[in-house]
Amino acid sequence: MTRHPSEATLLAHAAGHLPPTHSVVLRAHMAQCPHCRAQATLAREAGGALLAELAPAAMAPDALARAFAGLDGATPLPPPRPAPRTLAELATGRWWWIAPGMRLMPLQRRGTDDARLDLIRVAPGMKLPAHGHTGTELTLVLQGAFGDETGEYHAGDVAEGDPELDHQPEALPMGQDCICLISTTGRLRAHGWLARLVQPLVGV
Ligand SMILES: [Zn+2]
Repeated sequence: MTRHPSEATLLAHAAGHLPPTHSVVLRAHMAQCPHCRAQATLAREAGGALLAELAPAAMAPDALARAFAGLDGATPLPPPRPAPRTLAELATGRWWWIAPGMRLMPLQRRGTDDARLDLIRVAPGMKLPAHGHTGTELTLVLQGAFGDETGEYHAGDVAEGDPELDHQPEALPMGQDCICLISTTGRLRAHGWLARLVQPLVGV
């Protein structure tokens, strides 16, 4: 594992500013990356220190009473479930054929934050159609490897894309399908005929 998310992305995650599906990808990477776990802890601590330096704000005199009133009759939240991190934990749905050598397993449909989460599985040596994005893209390699204009990504590596990026990822011939967890915001900007065919089918 040599390619990590940017500091800006780790900071945004720590501050709770990333789309939740981007955070799923980050957490799956951090589960196997002590370096990024340490960075995220630093970012949280820096955020806490900044908060501690803020001047206290005056609250309404009845704030505490209203908080207790709001709690009366509230259903307690269920304990949070640990986020799925491994391929076996994530890949519980169905693989959809989208093109020769390419399959997609939608994990989370586009929500109000305009983000979606998918697993994509590409046969060794297969090239995806060249495309860009109108939003951001966070990719974690779970198995195999791929390469594009920005370099090579192997299992555990994270690739980041933004509207500036136009790329044509290719699964490297590693003997294994390349499987990636991908969170995207915005839309695909498709160039080739295949991309234009795939786009309406999978709604990306
Ligand atoms: Zn890392």
